[in-house]
Amino acid sequence: MNVPLGTTELRSRFEAVFGAAPDGVWQAPGRVNLIGEHTDYNEGFVLPFAIDRAARVAVRLRPDSTVRMLSTFGNQGLTTADAAALEPAAARGWTKYPLGVLWALQQRGLAVPGLDLLLDSDVPRGAGLSSSHAIECAVILALNELTGAGLSAQDMVLATQRAENDFVGAPTGIMDQSASLRGAAGQAVFLDCRDQGVRLVPFDAEGAGLVLLVIDTKVSHSHAGGGYAARRASCELGADVLGVRALRDVGVEDLEEAAGLLDPETFRRVRHVVTENDRVLRTVELLEGAGPQAIGPLLDASHASMRDDFEISCPELDLAVDTARTAGAIGARMTGGGFGGCAIALAPAGAEERLRATVASAFTGAGYAAPDIFRVRPAAGALRLA
Ligand code: ADP
Ligand code: MG
Repeated sequence: MNVPLGTTELRSRFEAVFGAAPDGVWQAPGRVNLIGEHTDYNEGFVLPFAIDRAARVAVRLRPDSTVRMLSTFGNQGLTTADAAALEPAAARGWTKYPLGVLWALQQRGLAVPGLDLLLDSDVPRGAGLSSSHAIECAVILALNELTGAGLSAQDMVLATQRAENDFVGAPTGIMDQSASLRGAAGQAVFLDCRDQGVRLVPFDAEGAGLVLLVIDTKVSHSHAGGGYAARRASCELGADVLGVRALRDVGVEDLEEAAGLLDPETFRRVRHVVTENDRVLRTVELLEGAGPQAIGPLLDASHASMRDDFEISCPELDLAVDTARTAGAIGARMTGGGFGGCAIALAPAGAEERLRATVASAFTGAGYAAPDIFRVRPAAGALRLA
């Protein structure tokens, strides 16, 4: 895991590369989804939180339309583009994220000039912690301030969605950037994907003597793309047959009747979404009442539902979750779209070392590559650092 550069170091690197000091430095975190998987496109509920790993960008506006971008990651060198001639789907590599944000702002009618940008991020890439939205959110915060665009947090949520959907070409919703832009230390972001309403919910795991560990299986199964599309199609079919606008409108009490109307596979897909929405609501209730120690069984039930009903887990994720529990976690589940990626485990602080060792040796025993295991804390949302 790369160690993030401090603000001073980032500024001086920027100056060394671009020959002048940046106008400022902004940061935006990655996120972990605590609970609420595949509920977003069913107009349901999700409960992500911003994590203490973030993308940081040093930015200086330019008097012309040239865009120059450099990341401290990899040896990709300086990438140049023209802000006055941005084409969706044409950009390659990581620069499609900052360029997508520029483009989305232009689509809103804003004049966005060229800029120099240096990126440094300690959000793991491609692990399902939304390193891409961390970049986009840091960039949009910077541009919103530097151009005086006056966008609200909600405007920025929608503009980054536009960047991902229509410029990058990724069919993502609003969860990741909502968590990144609106998260707060010790809080989770309860998001209603129908009306896009947000409420912060206390989630001070460490204050309750717990740690939240991410177990990155580092596997990505090839059916991830097709599987996602197929799950979306099943949900749409289920909503059609049940005569509702979205599965959000189906309650747990409706499931018995639904079982008689749907084919067995569609029913299981629907049951996952319906019960998952209910689990999100119950998690929020518990976090606002009893506290984080009480939510373990809901995390466990969420995993079982994804494994058995939605069928988006995989042997590596199941092993991570089962072993974490054996080693003392009070709850564990896969998180993210599925077919690989990360699991999360909520565990007493005293069990952390044992949990790490037990999961690592279970992976070795099964012949899997060693997972990355790291602690995350619910942290501040996007902000200006300097
Ligand atoms: P996720 O958002 O789950 O991490 P994505 O595939 O959406 O996965 O985004 C990962 C991509 O984001 C990487 O392939 C890379 O293009 C870009 N990226 C993330 N962090 C960095 C970084 N520090 N430097 C350059 N590119 C990065
Ligand atoms: Mg992403």
